[in-house]
Amino acid sequence: MKVIVLGAGIIGVTSAYQLAKAGHEVTVIDRQQGPALETSFANAGEVSFGYCSPWAAPGIPMKALKWLFMQHAPLILRPKIDRAMLSWLVRMLSNCTSERYAINKSRMLRLADYSRISLADVRQETGIAYDERMQGTLQLFRTQAQLDASAKDVKALAADGIPYEVLDREGCIRVEPALRHVRDKIVGGLLTPKDETGDCFKFTNALAAKAQELGVRFAYGTHIKGLDVEGGKVRGIFTDHDHIGADAVVVALGSYSPLLLKPFGMNLPVYPVKGYSLTIPITDAARAPESTVMDETYKIAITRLGDRIRVGGMAEISGYTNDLGLARRRTLEHSVTDLFPGGDVAQASFWSGLRPMTPDGTPVIGPTKIGGLFLNTGHGTLGWTMSCGSARVISDLVSGRKPDIDATDLAIGRYA
Ligand SMILES: Cc1cc2nc3c(=O)[nH]c(=O)nc-3n(C[C@H](O)[C@H](O)[C@H](O)COP(=O)(O)OP(=O)(O)OC[C@H]3O[C@@H](n4cnc5c(N)ncnc54)[C@H](O)[C@@H]3O)c2cc1C
Repeated sequence: MKVIVLGAGIIGVTSAYQLAKAGHEVTVIDRQQGPALETSFANAGEVSFGYCSPWAAPGIPMKALKWLFMQHAPLILRPKIDRAMLSWLVRMLSNCTSERYAINKSRMLRLADYSRISLADVRQETGIAYDERMQGTLQLFRTQAQLDASAKDVKALAADGIPYEVLDREGCIRVEPALRHVRDKIVGGLLTPKDETGDCFKFTNALAAKAQELGVRFAYGTHIKGLDVEGGKVRGIFTDHDHIGADAVVVALGSYSPLLLKPFGMNLPVYPVKGYSLTIPITDAARAPESTVMDETYKIAITRLGDRIRVGGMAEISGYTNDLGLARRRTLEHSVTDLFPGGDVAQASFWSGLRPMTPDGTPVIGPTKIGGLFLNTGHGTLGWTMSCGSARVISDLVSGRKPDIDATDLAIGRYA
């Protein structure tokens, strides 16, 4: 079959790789000049199969109110008259119940666990390197209240059979030796040892090269203008250059996916939630992290990527803008220098990206009401983590095969 994949981020490239392996003739279209140049460019580098939860959780509305007024706030809301923003916020709040949280989390964990297996397979098949490490995620608590509150996460991990360890201060230092320099600032932690880390940009580029070897064609510098739909079936796409015909189209445009679907009456609840990162060259490895540490106080992830530290976090709800605010940089600098001052912050590169967030945290993967049109988008905070499993699911669905995991509740139909 002739399949077009829209978008060359981590989701589009992993999809194209699996579709090519399944024997399809695949073309990937992207407006950028190469793979992973938008949200997949400099994320926090956590491949967190265990540390994997929806943001919409019980207690979040109250916490969010507190965060809005905190110095180094993890949440920034810039309200404006934007129907998409308001409707997304209302839907997100309606998912903050215990029942919805349990359903959403179990969907995410199912996909994340499948992604763990699928990423290991891709690594074995291709041998690609991407500054990967397999040393777990340490959720770090600076207060006893944070440690106590983690009891509900521990319960959820135990119920889902995800390995974990609750650590005291010395346990945290055993896992992350650089923390011995700041032992008085920490109380304990929660380790999910099966989690991994790696550079999403390097991985996406290396996999795009492997996909090309399998025959995938990449059309960069090409703006997608619309879908060609006739008689309820997709026939191809319109770009700023020409019309490209196809038997099937997979939408993997991240935060921009809803804009393409709107003219066809499809209301995809994906909204851009901006995050920021710093990439810092390491000058003193003894004061750098070994793996990934989630600073619970600021909700900031600090990850070792080869000879660099990647610091990422914050959720800014402000629409489609990639502006870089100095105050956000200060927050990232504050968190990393407080715990791991082993890098040259003055030499760091500062970046922002738009997480394609659904209100329930789960991506949208599956067919649509238009024949031949499939979605693989809305991966929000965990697109790198969930990419390889999502790609296998979409490849199976496009190929008319039953995916290895239940995917019925991942499709857009769940919002009906
Ligand atoms: C600060 C931050 C930290 C993060 N940390 C982590 C983490 O630690 N672990 C994790 O798992 N996830 C993390 N994420 C989330 C992860 O980065 C995203 O979920 C993921 O990158 C989304 O990938 P994507 O392919 O869907 O989107 P993108 O990478 O944005 O790809 C979409 C592509 O579509 C193209 N495109 C869009 N519109 C058009 C058009 N009209 N024409 C042509 N091309 C178009 C774009 O150029 C882009 O290349 C983080 C995100 C941020 C912002």
